[in-house]
Amino acid sequence: MAINTPPIAFGTDAPSSARGKQAGKARRPVPAPRPGLVTAAAAVVGVGLGATLALTITSETSSEFTGPGGVASFAGNLTGMAGSYLALVMVLLVSRIPFVEHVLGLDGLLRWHRRVAPWPISLLVAHAVLITIGYAQTAKTGTWHEVGTLLTRYPDMITAAVGLGLMCLAGVISIRAIRSRLRRETWWTVHLVMYLALAISFAHIIVLGPSFVGHPATQVVWSVAWAASAGLVLCYRVGLPVVRSIRHGLRVVEVRPEGPGVVSIVCSGRNLNRLAVSGGQFFCWRFLTRSHWWQAHPYSLSALPQPPYLRLTVKSVGDHSASLALLRPGTRVAVEGPYGTFTRHAQRHRRALLIAGGIGVTATRALLEDLPRAAQPVVLLRGTRQEDLVLREEVANLVRRRGGKLHELTGTREQQGLDEQSLPALVPDLLDRDIFVCGPEGFVADIVATARALGVPDEVIHYEAFAL
Ligand SMILES: Cc1cc2nc3c(=O)[nH]c(=O)nc-3n(C[C@H](O)[C@H](O)[C@H](O)COP(=O)(O)OP(=O)(O)OC[C@H]3O[C@@H](n4cnc5c(N)ncnc54)[C@H](O)[C@@H]3O)c2cc1C
Repeated sequence: MAINTPPIAFGTDAPSSARGKQAGKARRPVPAPRPGLVTAAAAVVGVGLGATLALTITSETSSEFTGPGGVASFAGNLTGMAGSYLALVMVLLVSRIPFVEHVLGLDGLLRWHRRVAPWPISLLVAHAVLITIGYAQTAKTGTWHEVGTLLTRYPDMITAAVGLGLMCLAGVISIRAIRSRLRRETWWTVHLVMYLALAISFAHIIVLGPSFVGHPATQVVWSVAWAASAGLVLCYRVGLPVVRSIRHGLRVVEVRPEGPGVVSIVCSGRNLNRLAVSGGQFFCWRFLTRSHWWQAHPYSLSALPQPPYLRLTVKSVGDHSASLALLRPGTRVAVEGPYGTFTRHAQRHRRALLIAGGIGVTATRALLEDLPRAAQPVVLLRGTRQEDLVLREEVANLVRRRGGKLHELTGTREQQGLDEQSLPALVPDLLDRDIFVCGPEGFVADIVATARALGVPDEVIHYEAFAL
């Protein structure tokens, strides 16, 4: 492991001024989330769905509907339009539009994306089946014969059929039981075919859809909506990360061991005072070495930025996280983010309880540094052994300065579980505090369940589970 002289101590609160050229410049404030905007955007999406369905219904004549195959064809058109519209929504949900991400968080957006995804896929499969049946009834021929006719005589149908096949493939590999058996990178790469599927299916809707044929204005609106969605994806998932990475020019300056299997990576960069980031947020980090450049993994900042430095702290759990201990100083770093709603903006009460399970201490420590001093934080650090409580001295310092209380809980889950008896015993004013919990998925789920069982309302339970 290549280790330099520590360039800066992250042990205390980020100073209002730091060293070097960026010294004395105030950090850029993070815009507060604006839930009203997201509600308005959701209303626009709802109106769009209503308009799409209304357009399909009104473009159907009564003679078409009552004629042979009319009902199946109509149902096919309706499912096709609804499915295409929901596919657009599914794309928008992963475009990471900042004002939406600030409210829902990346995990929230992905949750919605997963909830919505089965609908467009099922509706588009239903569309293909119903249209084939409807057209076969109209032509008074067999369904399989009609499949051949559709594929050979109608424009853009072969690409649409391939698109539907790819969509189904992306859907199948995303079923939890199948996805969990695949390497994350394999799943992610195959799952990208969804974009290709949508792109190649687009033409047949415009050329054949009854709502579009002979309606140039509708064609324009639909095309603009899709082009704008593609633009948003490119802008926020590709353009912004590239611009941000070039602007800050991050490089690794130090890799520092923190505990068993845990290292901190300190990066330095330009203009970090202009990077708006809250304690508790994370970036997707891409270390530009031969073996790492192609994968971006999410890691939280483990301290507020101290321009020109940023720090992340990583526990080795698999090939990527383990290999980061071998990073060399000078390695270039590209970042995407910051993301996450596990921040002081979520706070409702004046006081806060912070609970970290294992490596969840990273986001917890950065959040603690960012909380107002009046938060009088109670912090619970949970680990199997004392040496697993990495960054504990930094946390202890920050707690002391805020007049808070730190509990270090070590032992197995059975010995040191946080349950409905032990949690209120440690934190008697639990119901007057926001609860911030961070760590592995199972740990977070247990604490959230315990808090709910103790009567803590959902609005004051905030969590970051280290799984997307
Ligand atoms: C919001 C968030 C913040 C995190 N912050 C930290 C942190 O500060 N310190 C830390 O040590 N760990 C953190 N993690 C966990 C870290 O991302 C994973 O441990 C790491 O990506 C594992 O990769 P691997 O190749 O070493 O292990 P693998 O064996 O490949 O993966 C282990 C598990 O990590 C998750 N994972 C792997 N790759 C990704 C990816 N590209 N995107 C999302 N999840 C992935 C999956 O759930 C997987 O099952 C965070 C995770 C999330 C979601």
